Amino acid sequence: MLETDTEGVPQRVATGRMPAWDEVEEWVALAYERARPVAAGTVADYIPVLAEADPESFGVCVAEVDGSLHSAGDAQVLFSIQSISKAFVYALACDAVGHERVGDIVGVNNTGLPFNSVIAIELNAGHPMNPMVNAGAIATTALVPGDTAEDTWSAVLAGLSGFAGRPLELDERVYASEAATNQRNQAIGRLLQSYGRLDRDPLEIVDVYTRQCSLLVSAHDLAVMGATLADGGVNPITGQQVVSADVCRDTLAVLAANGLYERSGEWLFEIGLPGKSGVSGGIVTVAPGKGAIGTFSPPLDSAGNSVRGQRATAYLSRTLGLNIFASDDRGSNA
Ligand code: GLU
Repeated sequence: MLETDTEGVPQRVATGRMPAWDEVEEWVALAYERARPVAAGTVADYIPVLAEADPESFGVCVAEVDGSLHSAGDAQVLFSIQSISKAFVYALACDAVGHERVGDIVGVNNTGLPFNSVIAIELNAGHPMNPMVNAGAIATTALVPGDTAEDTWSAVLAGLSGFAGRPLELDERVYASEAATNQRNQAIGRLLQSYGRLDRDPLEIVDVYTRQCSLLVSAHDLAVMGATLADGGVNPITGQQVVSADVCRDTLAVLAANGLYERSGEWLFEIGLPGKSGVSGGIVTVAPGKGAIGTFSPPLDSAGNSVRGQRATAYLSRTLGLNIFASDDRGSNA
């Protein structure tokens, strides 16, 4: 089960607006204090460099669509974005080629299988089904236009930087470490090619995917990137229209179904918002029309979701009234 610990935390009704600025500030500080002492979880080590992450590092940031920012702890600490890039590259691919084409090649359904599953491809005649796990994400990266893999990489880098509102940089050590150990993703690329789901060089596309996963972001960046999806594609800091409003709606629907690995159903049940996590310890969670929460803490649960991140996000979803299913606060507040 998810690590949420919302016992006794009041559930505020989802109103369509964030609470007042100073209230949000206070709840963010409380969410941080409440989750900080939690020591559960394990830092990912299947990409060797990730094992060096400081398990104590913990940051929370809320970005509102009007550009207000609320941070606690290590909200500026940089880490590789990993799987969270899949959400934003999905949006870029849909914006470029339309969600019908992405849907035909990739799909929008949860496979219920781990993020690096090969079986999921075989079970579905090569259709990756889910753009938020590696097979679907690699097929999605291949749909970002570019005459060469280098052009596609430039488009991915520019697009993700547009979401963050600043030029993102590659963590060369993480990239080298993953590139040296990603034979499984290379195999997934080849398998997709064999099923006709990838019409570009699989190894070159897996390399672009590995680079997108190695981009450095902070909890602050994740909050701004998420708030861009929350506001019809307009970055709350730069005002840039990064993708269309329709693409944001479609991307958030995909995140609601698939964003938290095999715990996506539990996440929607407990937190009631679209989100995406990554194995380096980040989680972005989006409250449509209001803003987004970015968290960073490396220790993960068995599905790959940050434990402190889950706790802080569950707390904020309740106290800020973000859960999209909470329409009435009469009753037990359970
Ligand atoms: N780059 C990682 C991989 O492909 C991303 C995994 C994740 O964050 O889920 O294995």
